[in-house]
Amino acid sequence: MVSRVIPVDPFDLVIFGGTGDLARRKILPGLYLRFEDGQMPEDARIIGAARGEFDDAAYRDFVRAAIDEFVPKAKRHKESISAFLERLHYVAIDAKGEGGWKELAKLMRPEIIRAFYFSVAPSLFGDLAERLHLHKIAHRKSRIVVEKPFGHDLKTAQALNETLAKHFKEDQIYRIDHYLGKETVQNLMALRFGNILFEPLWNAQFVDHIQITVAESVGVGGRGGYYDKSGAMRDMVQNHLMQLLCLTAMEPPSKFDPDAVRDEKLKVIRALDIPGPDAIVRGQYRKTKSSPSYREDAENPDSLTESFIAMRLHISNWRWNGTPFYLRTGKKLKSRVSEIVVRFKEPPHHIFGEETGTHANALTIRLQPNEGMDLRVTIKEPGPGGMRLIDAPLDMTFADALGKEASDVPDAYERLIMDVIRGNQTLFMRGDEVEAAWAWTDPIIADWEARADKPVEYEPGSTGPEEAAILMHKDGRRWREISE
Ligand code: NAP
Repeated sequence: MVSRVIPVDPFDLVIFGGTGDLARRKILPGLYLRFEDGQMPEDARIIGAARGEFDDAAYRDFVRAAIDEFVPKAKRHKESISAFLERLHYVAIDAKGEGGWKELAKLMRPEIIRAFYFSVAPSLFGDLAERLHLHKIAHRKSRIVVEKPFGHDLKTAQALNETLAKHFKEDQIYRIDHYLGKETVQNLMALRFGNILFEPLWNAQFVDHIQITVAESVGVGGRGGYYDKSGAMRDMVQNHLMQLLCLTAMEPPSKFDPDAVRDEKLKVIRALDIPGPDAIVRGQYRKTKSSPSYREDAENPDSLTESFIAMRLHISNWRWNGTPFYLRTGKKLKSRVSEIVVRFKEPPHHIFGEETGTHANALTIRLQPNEGMDLRVTIKEPGPGGMRLIDAPLDMTFADALGKEASDVPDAYERLIMDVIRGNQTLFMRGDEVEAAWAWTDPIIADWEARADKPVEYEPGSTGPEEAAILMHKDGRRWREISE
């Protein structure tokens, strides 16, 4: 297999919040892996920035510990780690104060790509943008990476967009949604637009329905207070599930170019119907002998926030008229699974007779675990005894099909950070896309609030509330089992 990785120019990457949880678990280990893979240019530098009093040596120790904890052993080579750590620096800085900014300005090299990763609380994004500008640290080759959540509703998202726009142009702003960095998500585009096989069938005439599931097995314990102010709709549907929906439903862009792709995604969001209460199920996990309820985790005995949501959506356009999209996501479910299922219609006429059963093709695009795709096709059950039909997988996990090289697919963060340096915004959300997603979300949440809608309870470790299964049963359909 010929690797065609696009080389990266030298850069200075500043990680604001460089001592935080996300930096420790994802960003810094991801950068090390890119370095170890030979994808980082000789003179790239990474600068951690936070209020804590570290010097370069102490920060390098912090990063070494993060690599030890979060990088697989097979990738931890002593020499690579030492060489990587030499590229690291630290500046003690306060996003809200003046301390540290002069030192940071002095550290930055002229004429080199500058990337600023805002891995801090969203309330600090505006302060950072302003001070980067004030201290003349941001130049035309600068870009900022903004973490989620991007706003709490349309109003706050608009305000944040306006604040960032004061100091940065849209082509300098990278709003991250790590789901877009997943190998299979990009493969969804390759599958749809790089083959003749699927696209002619990818519409209401041949697709019965589409399911998008993002199930998590953990509860909200530990960050219940934060979560209770958002819930599954704001935390997962407005961003991650919406992005998966867009990539599944969008029209072919004229080229694989950031704005062409994002224009098509935006059209999908704008064509989404607002589902009524009968098309939505909201749930909260209940207490068991050994584990607390959602309300206990959230430390809010009267909480009306959902830790689970399932919904049926329609897209009002020619391609999808009559094909429902079922979305579900929740905490404390049976297993941690993210997948998109495209369920095709049954053949129009059964030549093998009723007794052979009914069969429909299904394409499953798995984001986690075991990234890959699985196409169920109908075949004859092997052996004598007449014509019996069964569903069998035409299975393709990347590791099986493409060998070890493919099982080493970079983590979403690794890929996305390198895309920032390359200046490729295709896998990042544009400001108008985020606003459109909030414009769709806001009235749904407002309706719950107006009716004081109470989520139903569900059993931890289950597939969610019974009502979610009924939502599908009423339409004569079933959710795919949540299983690893
Ligand atoms: P965190 O663990 O609380 O870390 C926050 C970081 O910001 C620390 O390095 C902290 O260091 C620094 N900081 C706080 N106040 C500061 C200030 N005034 N000036 C400069 N630095 C300051 O948070 P996190 O979990 O890493 O999350 C960071 C961002 O990523 C948030 O926007 C979050 O929503 C998003 N995110 C996180 C995850 C995740 O898995 N953790 C996932 C998705 C999105 P000091 O206190 O020393 O300044």
